[in-house]
Amino acid sequence: MKKLLAPILQSFSDLLFPRTCLGCNQYLNFHEAALCLRCQIELPQTHFHLTPNNPVFKKLKLLFTLEAASAAFVFQKEGRIADLIHQFKYNGNLSCGNLLAHYLANTLDQSAFFKKVEGIIPVPLHPSRQRKRGFNQAEIIGKVLSKKLGIPLFTEVLIRYKKTRTLAHIGEEARWIEIKDAFKVNSSSVNLPKHLLLIDDVITTGATLAACTNAFKKNSTIKLSIAALACRL
Ligand SMILES: [Zn+2]
Repeated sequence: MKKLLAPILQSFSDLLFPRTCLGCNQYLNFHEAALCLRCQIELPQTHFHLTPNNPVFKKLKLLFTLEAASAAFVFQKEGRIADLIHQFKYNGNLSCGNLLAHYLANTLDQSAFFKKVEGIIPVPLHPSRQRKRGFNQAEIIGKVLSKKLGIPLFTEVLIRYKKTRTLAHIGEEARWIEIKDAFKVNSSSVNLPKHLLLIDDVITTGATLAACTNAFKKNSTIKLSIAALACRL
């Protein structure tokens, strides 16, 4: 009965309080949750979670040792994903972040090669940047993944102790130099699981993730995998 009533109640609620699509701002139908059907179809999904040797894995493999890597979407400048991530990161629209994180969680849940991950680590922001933004986007994604996949989230293990310039606005070479030694592993983090999944919002050059993995180098028993909402190819 409850199932039968839900669409009727949603339609009624939509009449009084119309909901709009997070992607295109058009009004949503009662059966659409956050994105309209058209936006859902148009999302540039990678399906990398189905192929271990996928383009993002190949790209990162050249930079550091890793077990597996995936990104749910292709990041295209001025595309729908870029817009949703911008709304999430810079306009504080957490609904957009949660929506994309659920897509990523679903892909990882279906993937055979992320099954051995035992802990999730979000790429940290420098504390001053996090204070300014009010949240760490990678942590928001990590929370969704942790809940959906049933894997513990560790937010105090990896620390960003060097304040870097905004990486999106500097050249590739400068980005590598700027971020190289920006992270360290909290010395009190003992008894860490052996296979960790590093989470970021967008993979561009891989410089940030390379710097993060560098911080784990002292602990040679730890294996690292990578997941992000989107990647530039
Ligand atoms: Zn839409």
